[in-house]
Amino acid sequence: MAIAKHTDERQHSSRSLILKAPLSGLVYDLSEVPDPVFAQKMVGDGISIDPTTDTLIAPCDGKVIQLHPSHHAVTLRSPEGVEILMHIGLDTVMLRGDGFEPLVKEGDQVVHGQPLIRFCADKVALNARSLMTEIVITNGELVDRLIPSQGRIQERDDTLLEVVLNESASEQSEQTETASMALLSSNPVLVPNPTGLHARPSATLAKLAKESGCDVLLEYNDSQVNAKSVVALMGLNVPFGASVIIHAAGQNAEQTIATISQAIVDGLGEEVNQAAEATAPAEPEEASLLLPKQQQADQLEGVAASPGLAIGQLYVIQPEHFDICETASESDAEQQKLLQGMTEADNQLAELAQSWKDKGDAERAKIFEAHQELLTDPTLREAADQLISHGKSAAFAWRQTVQTQADSFRQMDNPLLQERASDLHDVGNRVLRIMLGMPTDGPALPENSILIADDLTPSDTANLDKNRVVGFATVQGGSSSHVAIIARAMGLPAIAGIDPEAMKQQNGTKAVLDGQQGVLKLNVTEQALAEIRQRQQRATERQQAALAAKEQPATTQDDHNVEVVANIGGIKDATKSVEVGGEGVGLLRSEFLYLDRVTEPTEQEQYEIYRDVLLELGPERPLIVRTLDVGGDKPLAYLPLPEEENPFLGLRGIRIGLDRPTLLRKQARAILRASEHGRIRIMFPMIANLAELRLAKQVVEEERVKLGVEPIEIGIMVEVPSTAVLAEQFAPEVDFFSIGSNDLSQYTLAMDRGHPKLAAFVDGLNPAVLSLIKMTADAAHRHGKWAGVCGGIASDPQAVPLLVGLGIDELSVSVPVLPEIKAQIRQLSLADCQTLATQALALTDAKEVRALVPVVD
Ligand code: PEP
Ligand code: MG
Repeated sequence: MAIAKHTDERQHSSRSLILKAPLSGLVYDLSEVPDPVFAQKMVGDGISIDPTTDTLIAPCDGKVIQLHPSHHAVTLRSPEGVEILMHIGLDTVMLRGDGFEPLVKEGDQVVHGQPLIRFCADKVALNARSLMTEIVITNGELVDRLIPSQGRIQERDDTLLEVVLNESASEQSEQTETASMALLSSNPVLVPNPTGLHARPSATLAKLAKESGCDVLLEYNDSQVNAKSVVALMGLNVPFGASVIIHAAGQNAEQTIATISQAIVDGLGEEVNQAAEATAPAEPEEASLLLPKQQQADQLEGVAASPGLAIGQLYVIQPEHFDICETASESDAEQQKLLQGMTEADNQLAELAQSWKDKGDAERAKIFEAHQELLTDPTLREAADQLISHGKSAAFAWRQTVQTQADSFRQMDNPLLQERASDLHDVGNRVLRIMLGMPTDGPALPENSILIADDLTPSDTANLDKNRVVGFATVQGGSSSHVAIIARAMGLPAIAGIDPEAMKQQNGTKAVLDGQQGVLKLNVTEQALAEIRQRQQRATERQQAALAAKEQPATTQDDHNVEVVANIGGIKDATKSVEVGGEGVGLLRSEFLYLDRVTEPTEQEQYEIYRDVLLELGPERPLIVRTLDVGGDKPLAYLPLPEEENPFLGLRGIRIGLDRPTLLRKQARAILRASEHGRIRIMFPMIANLAELRLAKQVVEEERVKLGVEPIEIGIMVEVPSTAVLAEQFAPEVDFFSIGSNDLSQYTLAMDRGHPKLAAFVDGLNPAVLSLIKMTADAAHRHGKWAGVCGGIASDPQAVPLLVGLGIDELSVSVPVLPEIKAQIRQLSLADCQTLATQALALTDAKEVRALVPVVD
């Protein structure tokens, strides 16, 4: 590509693209830019502007194909296929987005003059090396020559650059694609660049790839891109410390891999920290001190998530991997393949929708109908077809199109569109599986399956088929994660935070999952199996005895009564809780009612559920409805929340209700209206200060007055340490406290309740948590109020005597263990429990506390 000077008298070729000025300012030749990457045209040829305006606008019509996560660079693809990278300032990647406001997102179609990125010129000028903004053509192979402007230019109206296109460009670019040649692959290589593979290292890498004479791909996170394309490399968003794999095909493939691997280790022209460079640690890495040390042979350790013993065979749910070849030579055949895939997917979805309708589940049928609707959207097909006509394979084109569309849904302000992103993802994967000849619906699980998965969502868990699955273990998660809560409610033994080795086990391996001790035992001998069966037998006998005495109150030997109520997630649990002797409901997790919903429930629907639960419970048993507690590890499809850096510390629990009062009002009205059918109480989650409580109470009171109903009792979850510490001040303003020990533990110990490596430590029996429980109970009693516990420890037989001893009046437990907890309390004496609690408070950690309290096995 050659550069000729731009003059107004020039003849416009019919194959040229005119780029108008994206900023006002003074134009410089790229060679004058004080950065070798641009000056030496490593990213591509182009021009630079020293700007006097602060909003980068589109120099032509096009599509945003890449927006750097730090928002300092954006690439447009013009309708002619020319890729135009606009890089604001030099070294601005270091600012990590500070001072840049993106006004578009990847996948957007933009028109000439449309604002792309606004930036704070002062901030950038002060903190970065320069404000000089480069406009560079990254796929120079399409270009014959560039005709640049000179001097001062005015944004929008003046021409910045005429790009004269190369007539044979499209054929050339197709020829350079990697077709079906055998690829050699490197070992994983760590990226040592502090800001990852941004423009400069990408340019160096692309240059090496181009010079190699080979076809080179870079793989990161299951995506492979052509390593000769700077834009594609930047689009991978490879961060510092990530590992990438180089694939090369051609005569010098081996040498190319060695050269590029070494160049990555050396920082691709950037200074990097030597410590981060090594591809393999010089010394063997010492094993984590956080994880259990004495691993026993044939035993994988995790933490107890849901009690019970399961004997069965392993079924490992492997993360789905799509083996996709990027290019294909026969466009027509690929288009046909896509059409067939889409048609088959449509048929499958129609069948699924019908089968759910036949089973009377209209809600679930609607999900599949919505998927069908997405599939018939013509823009998806058109976009994929276009990629196919540029030499991409059907699978590659489809995945790319779906991804782009889903990303753009995700970034929209409209929650309904955001929620469609995951639907689109599901549909997209169905079509991909069909095209790649993979099974499309979940595996047919063998009987007595013990599932092993990296993670499960709450709704995956709720949908497990208990006729086939006898237990599960996840690598992620902890004992109080919501998946664990659902498993407990289902009476399904589970362990979390299991050694990732579990994912490597063979399907069909005989195993025992011990949900009480948090271990998975493999290759169990007949003798050990016999012992386990005896344990199961003893547990069954205990359960039966407790069930026979289910209606007896939980009164200790020295005549102290503890109310034992249920944690429920819906009407079925309510019915079951009454059947097993539950004295009411201490926690209805109202968000669990709607895990599968894709649309927000109406006030009437909410009212009807609360009414039906009250009718199940009868006039005497109380029902505590906790207002919607979404956020953290509890996503709700119909209520997508913006991404947050610390979701557990962000908009969660009552904060969402206060941020979106319409939601809270609607729910409050439904609860208040249901109050005529029984003893309903309202409880607010995650209250951290009095102002929140007062605002939430005010909303309820306003709705109550409008409805003209009697006041109902109002309580709060005590799950944030500040509330426990100030319980004395909260007590006069509430009717009751219910301690959410799951969150109280995570917030007191500063440990994510779902973190696999911390799982063993996020234990509500930690004396720090026990002290906060005591402060809460004492404050409640001083003000004539009561305090319950509805977190996981209420259902833990080791915790029960301690909680009774700390003065807890009510235990809200998972339904399957309810009769046994009542039976256990009947064996205790309050005085002994108080002594035990005092001893526990003086200990240093949960392990010591657990050693103090005997376990029944
Ligand atoms: C808790 O935090 O203990 C609790 C009961 O609430 P959730 O588990 O639903 O967050
Ligand atoms: Mg909680």
